[in-house]
Amino acid sequence: MKQRMTKNDLLHRLLPQERLSLLRELGILADERGVSLYLVGGVVRDLLLGHVTLDLDLTVEGDGIVFARLVADRYRAGLAVFERFATARLVFPDGLKMDIATTRRESYAQPAVLPTVQPASIEEDLYRRDFTINAMAVQLNSGQFGRLLDVYGGQRDLRARTIRVLHEGSFQDDPTRIFRAIRFEQRFGFHLERTTLRLLAQAASTSLIQQLSGPRLQNEILLLFAEHDPVRAIARLGQLKLLRFLHRRLCYTQNVKRTVTAVPKALAWWVRRFPDSATDGPIVHLMALSSESSPVVVAAIIRRLALSREQAKNMSTIGRGLDRVLKRLTSKGTVRPSQVYRLLADLPDESLVLLLAKQVSRQQGVGLNRLKRYLGAYMKNRMIKTALAGRDLQAMGLEPGPEYKVILGKLLDARIDGMVTTEAEERALVRKWLTGRGKAMLAR
Ligand code: ATP
Ligand code: MG
Repeated sequence: MKQRMTKNDLLHRLLPQERLSLLRELGILADERGVSLYLVGGVVRDLLLGHVTLDLDLTVEGDGIVFARLVADRYRAGLAVFERFATARLVFPDGLKMDIATTRRESYAQPAVLPTVQPASIEEDLYRRDFTINAMAVQLNSGQFGRLLDVYGGQRDLRARTIRVLHEGSFQDDPTRIFRAIRFEQRFGFHLERTTLRLLAQAASTSLIQQLSGPRLQNEILLLFAEHDPVRAIARLGQLKLLRFLHRRLCYTQNVKRTVTAVPKALAWWVRRFPDSATDGPIVHLMALSSESSPVVVAAIIRRLALSREQAKNMSTIGRGLDRVLKRLTSKGTVRPSQVYRLLADLPDESLVLLLAKQVSRQQGVGLNRLKRYLGAYMKNRMIKTALAGRDLQAMGLEPGPEYKVILGKLLDARIDGMVTTEAEERALVRKWLTGRGKAMLAR
């Protein structure tokens, strides 16, 4: 069922003028080459929903890579070619990103591994896609410019706010679609169509997801946690019994749910208060979700998701140590600025946000205010440096050795606590330490 869009079609309504002209030109170029050219997938869905899209996905019935090279030459765009997937990525001088692919069918030798691809018609290309709402195309050739191809009921499902797979074997072919289904369901507030839900539950009850590689599973999980409401996405994963694929002994208690729920508030406060700190929000959610799991389970999650070193470092700060720090910083009794510094200095910012989320979830205003004050002071104090360095100590006649670290550490504490503010005062303090009585103090 191919159909013509009504007048003032969606391309005209929703694309800025310069994008529209570019697509028209590409349509003419495709005419000249004797190939059919389409805008395809999520872009079309977003256009129909009235959402602005930044990047463009195109597909060519013919040789997509040859066409992509032509476009890159003509528009002086950067080009990266992925032969295995018959896809090219272009970056135009104005920053526009465009993927150009060859229309293809996919065959899955085994479930859960990447497919082999073969050139095919646009209809077949649409059929291999994940959901009907993502399986529409808009033709760009000049005679057909703006014609919507909706072979599988994508518009109907968009109107009905429904996520529907194209065939029964879809989740088996590619279990990442299980997470993609939840991603779109949550993002758009749609629902899973009944059969789709049944197929999803069925696929989730097998070990299919276990066969996904670490990087692919990581990608899906972190994309889900990067959506605007990760808390609901996590609840949905729990409801669909999908959290066991992070680890079968992941501890998803009421307490964990409360911590997860508090993360957005904690992150929002953090970003407002420290706009320069680039915190990894999705990882903070994953940390919150794992926050009551044992170190062994956390280590297994790190391996399962093939997390990067930095992500792994964040994850491994979860646990008792963090709870002790939290207790110290929320209980009555003052903690000196240098002590706050010592408690927090080894923690990545993501862990600090997690501390905050834990306290937010406890709904104890007094402790929370205390913690926020300490965090504020710490973020300022961690910029502080001592005026003196190792070579200054040497010049003062001190033999190089492990004492340097102790002295410089104590000097930093003194700076942070406001006991010294100038280089002269630092020198005086070091000299005092080096005389008899002071030495005893250094040893402490
Ligand atoms: P987003 O807005 O999150 O980018 P999207 O729909 O554009 O959503 P992409 O991952 O960018 O998703 O993929 C673009 C298109 O490629 C999808 O709309 C879909 O048609 C197809 N696609 C992507 N991943 C899959 C998959 N795992 N299985 C089938 N089709 C897929
Ligand atoms: Mg996309």
